[in-house]
Amino acid sequence: MTEQDLAGRRAVITGGASGIGRACAEEVARRGAHVVIADLNAEAASAVASELGGEAWAVDLSDTAALDTLELQADILVNNAGIQRVSPIVDFDPDAFRAIQRIMLEAPFLLIRAVLPGMYERGWGRVVNISSVHGLRASAFKSAYVAAKHGLEGLSKVTALEGGPRGVTSNCINPGYVRTPLVEKQIADQAKAHGIAESEVIEKVMLTESAIKRLVEASEVASLAGWLASDAAGMVTGASYTMDGGWSAR
Ligand code: NAD
Repeated sequence: MTEQDLAGRRAVITGGASGIGRACAEEVARRGAHVVIADLNAEAASAVASELGGEAWAVDLSDTAALDTLELQADILVNNAGIQRVSPIVDFDPDAFRAIQRIMLEAPFLLIRAVLPGMYERGWGRVVNISSVHGLRASAFKSAYVAAKHGLEGLSKVTALEGGPRGVTSNCINPGYVRTPLVEKQIADQAKAHGIAESEVIEKVMLTESAIKRLVEASEVASLAGWLASDAAGMVTGASYTMDGGWSAR
């Protein structure tokens, strides 16, 4: 068992009620942090929070105006909440495009903005942004998601530059396809957009670029997030760590 190297730290994890966010919450809690599960799904957030001895924060991160004046205390912020929409640009619903920018780019900015003053005061902070291989590479039919994740990469680097002298690091994790509800929901949409059977989507669409032909597990992403949040990663900032089975090696 890893030592309790995050004991005494307070960690806010957005989208912490499911998938990668839930795995990150489990990992930082196991390492001793007090977790705040921020999620749209209030019921699931409460269930995860009580399992991990933390607290739930029911919040809709698409309502970014409500976050403008937020005051939030956290030593560790994991910007993870996200959604996907798969459609060619010519058919892409403009409201869906805007909602994705709000949840996956504006909200991370507003949360970072809210936690930095406390982190600066304490001289210590960790921002871990769950980006994607789509923060570094594009795929057809994912204009909103790819645009938001590329924006998150830039936001993370600026946070690293401003936070560095004050003890705050900021990094991105860039997974390939991870086995979570978000990916399971996408299979039908991908089949339609590419004109292939649902059974062919994992092999022919999701894993074509990957040298390792399996989905990433959420626990693998979480173990990297836990390390980035630790003192051992104190000199790691402004970085983007791929976990994509070799996809971006091409
Ligand atoms: P998921 O669907 O399992 O979980 C997402 C969580 O975010 C859910 O609990 C959901 O309720 C919450 N959420 C959604 N909209 C919200 C909102 N408006 N306000 C607050 N919470 C909201 O998804 P996941 O696969 O675990 O994805 C998590 C993150 O990882 C996303 O940012 C995603 O882009 C990224 N990612 C996922 C994969 C993958 O293959 N699954 C790969 C790379 C990156």
